[in-house]
Amino acid sequence: MDVLWAGWRAAYMTEVQQGVDTGGCLFCELPAGSDQANYIVERGEQAYSVLNLYPYTSGHLLVAPYRHVGTPGELAGDERLEVWELLARSQSAIDRALDPHGYNLGVNQGRAGGAGVLGHLHLHVVPRWSGDANFMTATANARILPEALEDTWQRLREALGDL
Ligand SMILES: [Zn+2]
Repeated sequence: MDVLWAGWRAAYMTEVQQGVDTGGCLFCELPAGSDQANYIVERGEQAYSVLNLYPYTSGHLLVAPYRHVGTPGELAGDERLEVWELLARSQSAIDRALDPHGYNLGVNQGRAGGAGVLGHLHLHVVPRWSGDANFMTATANARILPEALEDTWQRLREALGDL
């Protein structure tokens, strides 16, 4: 697990850099663009899911509320429900499209918790395959993913359409 979480943090550091480049909060800005341009998988009433631009594995996506809040406790009741609903729907789509062996689901909160984008809660959904940790250990800083983001996005959208 140490190896896994080290890779996880590396992905967050890239998110930090992207956040700085855009001059604002990444998770507030993403919904303003088109689904295809920003790899948004699904839009709900209160929250959305989006592919991580720097995925840890193929299908790695994020579920975030539209509202800029930093902790689960700040979510209103309907936001809490929909974040969980989008998590469940995302997993169903990933199961159908990518058939992973397992998942890591997690929130890094606050700088000490390893969060890359501070202040805007986001839940990571990371599909896992047996043996992928060994692959990651050797190539944590130069990942070669078996599938392009565009292809993953298309497959998840199609899978959601079937749900
Ligand atoms: Zn925000």
